[in-house]
Amino acid sequence: MLTYAVPASGRTGRSAATGDRSGHMKALVQSDFDGTITEEDVSSFLLEDFAQGDWRRLLREYREGRISVADLNIGAFSMIHADKATLLGALKGRVRVRPGFSELVDYCLNNGVRFVIVSNGLDFYIDAVLKDMGLETIEVHSARAHFHPEGMRVHYIGPDGNLLEDGFKEAYTRSFLRQEYRVTYMGNGNSDTVPAGYAHHVFATGELLAHCRENSMNCNPLESFSGVVRALKQILQLQI
Ligand SMILES: [Mg+2]
Repeated sequence: MLTYAVPASGRTGRSAATGDRSGHMKALVQSDFDGTITEEDVSSFLLEDFAQGDWRRLLREYREGRISVADLNIGAFSMIHADKATLLGALKGRVRVRPGFSELVDYCLNNGVRFVIVSNGLDFYIDAVLKDMGLETIEVHSARAHFHPEGMRVHYIGPDGNLLEDGFKEAYTRSFLRQEYRVTYMGNGNSDTVPAGYAHHVFATGELLAHCRENSMNCNPLESFSGVVRALKQILQLQI
């Protein structure tokens, strides 16, 4: 039988599980959202439809390594003046979740594996997508968006409760490692390469998969989440 620490959950609620004095391993899955849980990038849908300005210039600067992903999102989303209902309405029927996601969440819940979404994406659409699937209790750490007619304001809060300007995902990964979790990481993009480098196991697609292959980093290709469940069972059983 698998015996792990009880998962904590809730964006604002409980803190992380504390050390397990019985010596059992604590397991945690940290997942990106856009392009990992969803098949496409939800942020891009919104920026393409609503940004009133040259957000693609910021995207180029990010891809050239000149600005952080936080600067990209803070700058690009400030070009959106629409309200939350309008943005969520525009996403209706467009967000496709990778197959097997509910199965993976159930597996983690039933086996004491803490499941955490850490995303540079925005809280309001992540919450809406999870709620649509009846999965709104999942622990999420993401950008906080505030709607204003003069432009959306976005900020990031790190695991210590302070504002973060860069390195959001890896700040959480390092925090989980300090709490002695064995971390399995799932991601797809450039902003996942650093946190994946800290993790014990990696499931990767897209740019992250290419990065792992180019740098001879151990990883499993992420296709469906059913495949992740099968691989997680093997990983966790080997570690008992
Ligand atoms: Mg992503």
